[in-house]
Amino acid sequence: IEFEHCGFPATLSGNLKKAGYEAPTPVQMQMVPVGLSGRDVIASADTGSGKTVAFLLPVVVRAIEVHPVALILTPTRELAIQIERQAKELLMGLPNMRTALLVGGMPLPQQLHRLKSSIKIIIATPGRLIEILKQKAVQLDKVKVVVVDEVDTMLKMGFQQQVLEVLEQVPEDHQTLLASATIPTGTEELAGRLVCDPVRIAI
Ligand code: AMP
Repeated sequence: IEFEHCGFPATLSGNLKKAGYEAPTPVQMQMVPVGLSGRDVIASADTGSGKTVAFLLPVVVRAIEVHPVALILTPTRELAIQIERQAKELLMGLPNMRTALLVGGMPLPQQLHRLKSSIKIIIATPGRLIEILKQKAVQLDKVKVVVVDEVDTMLKMGFQQQVLEVLEQVPEDHQTLLASATIPTGTEELAGRLVCDPVRIAI
């Protein structure tokens, strides 16, 4: 299988090629079709497996076709920056597909300013997003797809309550894609509260 034959919009296929992605990795092969179907997903996939592109591709394809707002939650600023970089790589040349990076340790006013334009993909760490939600500078009522990346790390860092608090503000009928390197009991419990009838992917 090659990305060229996946039926993606031409600009996206071109961007994948430019990024040097010719063929999907195993986690992409499994997550992309399920993600596109609208089903929830719990994927155990480690860094290096291509998991970021695996959750970004369904988000990007859906954002191009039906203009949903996607929310990607990740535990650290570094991961958020990497996710935004990979998202921008996939979004090159596609009109009206702006991303917003909402993370701590970076100036808040710029992040608030960016939210004044139409955003398709929000990439956030839980703490900063809650801070911005409290200021009512962002609304999550149009979010259709939620990605929670590194669920196990979220738990280790004590972000469980914050993740749940954020998701309370997202409409019920959203799709959820979860990625976690390992799925121990605590992670399974949190995952169970976030997804509905999920497809499980283990790499
Ligand atoms: P991740 O598992 O998301 O941390 O990704 C690991 C690395 O694999 C990143 O540097 C990506 O740029 C790269 N990558 C993702 N998908 C592919 C692909 N289909 N072919 C080649 N490299 C990829």
